Amino acid sequence: MQNQTARLQRSERQLWKDSLRPDLRQKTNYVDVGCIRCMAAVIVLRCIPEDDYAKLKAVATSFVWFIPNDRVQGAVGTFPITVQERRGKSTRPCAQILYLSPSLEDMDFEITLALVAHEIAHLTLGHVLSGKSTNKVHEDAAWNLACRWGFEREVKRWHAVFREGDRDGQVAY
Ligand SMILES: [Zn+2]
Repeated sequence: MQNQTARLQRSERQLWKDSLRPDLRQKTNYVDVGCIRCMAAVIVLRCIPEDDYAKLKAVATSFVWFIPNDRVQGAVGTFPITVQERRGKSTRPCAQILYLSPSLEDMDFEITLALVAHEIAHLTLGHVLSGKSTNKVHEDAAWNLACRWGFEREVKRWHAVFREGDRDGQVAY
């Protein structure tokens, strides 16, 4: 597969209309407006091909961005209920949160783009965001989708930097 490069598919204004743009959508205490992570999220959202973007749009209200600044220091406020999580036969109200750590502000922009694309890919694939995922099938699928969106170079860079555990098959190039 040749290197795929992300291309802009839509305007920033369209993201706002579709309730997906993190920095214009929510209370600002959840999102450090103008930060590098927001910038990365806007780029990724603008580059997602139309078919996947439609899937993401359909789940726009099922998650909340949490892109706090350093001063928050892990303090988590209250979030709106966005999903009903299934527990056995019953369900319980939950907030599905897409958290982007302040530590990403200090990393290479490629790394930040790769991780943001990966997290948004999880949502697009309908995966439940719950802490650090250990589901390798889901992880592979999310990295692969980020590559298909044109962030292959960034994903390769991420994997070159974070050589954790068994990387075999983590990304299908
Ligand atoms: Zn993941």
